[in-house]
Amino acid sequence: MPDATFTRPDLTTFTRLDGLGLEVTGQLLEPDRSVLACRVVEPDDWCRRCGRQGVPRDTVSRELAHEPFGWCPTTLVLTVRRYRCKECSHVWRQDTTAAAPPRAKISRAGLRWGLVGIVVGHLSMARVAEGLGVAWNTAHDAVLAEGRRLLIEDPTRLDGVKVVGVDEHVWRHTRRGDKYVTVIIDLTPVRDGTGPSRLLDVVEGRSKKAFKDWLAERDQA
Ligand SMILES: [Zn+2]
Repeated sequence: MPDATFTRPDLTTFTRLDGLGLEVTGQLLEPDRSVLACRVVEPDDWCRRCGRQGVPRDTVSRELAHEPFGWCPTTLVLTVRRYRCKECSHVWRQDTTAAAPPRAKISRAGLRWGLVGIVVGHLSMARVAEGLGVAWNTAHDAVLAEGRRLLIEDPTRLDGVKVVGVDEHVWRHTRRGDKYVTVIIDLTPVRDGTGPSRLLDVVEGRSKKAFKDWLAERDQA
């Protein structure tokens, strides 16, 4: 890479935490997992009730599973500041929704890693859960919800789609047999050489019937 520009090594950008509004302040490398201590970059010290500036009161911590690095689960321990308003006594904590949805156990980057792992990398949900260092159910519910969120929030996702690919995955091995999901992918960019394929939808069931039903639900255009 003769023309590449190298910048100063930096754990925050390497682990893509800058996009989540976080900054790494410390690391703990254990044999089976890495822990990154983080602080929330934006102060967020204006009272949500009366709009006056609050004073720092104390801190709380929030733990999130992040995407793995080097196949090693990475846990984030966020130090979140709490403020108190001197005017109205309201107490609140720094907004961390850029890092993860409220009450979530997995960071947004971790969710994306899991979703791409399932859809593009053909990883099993067990492998995704192992990579994130969380329970199977936690990974399953969160990654599926993220897939739905990404799709539902983009109503234009079917515009310009000409070539569709269908792929069936065993979503869950159960005692009474396997549960399948069918992943529907837009291959138009691949055919046109303009970019990678796009995830269009994730539906329950095996590919032939699931895809037939899915097509029937779309408008004919
Ligand atoms: Zn106030």
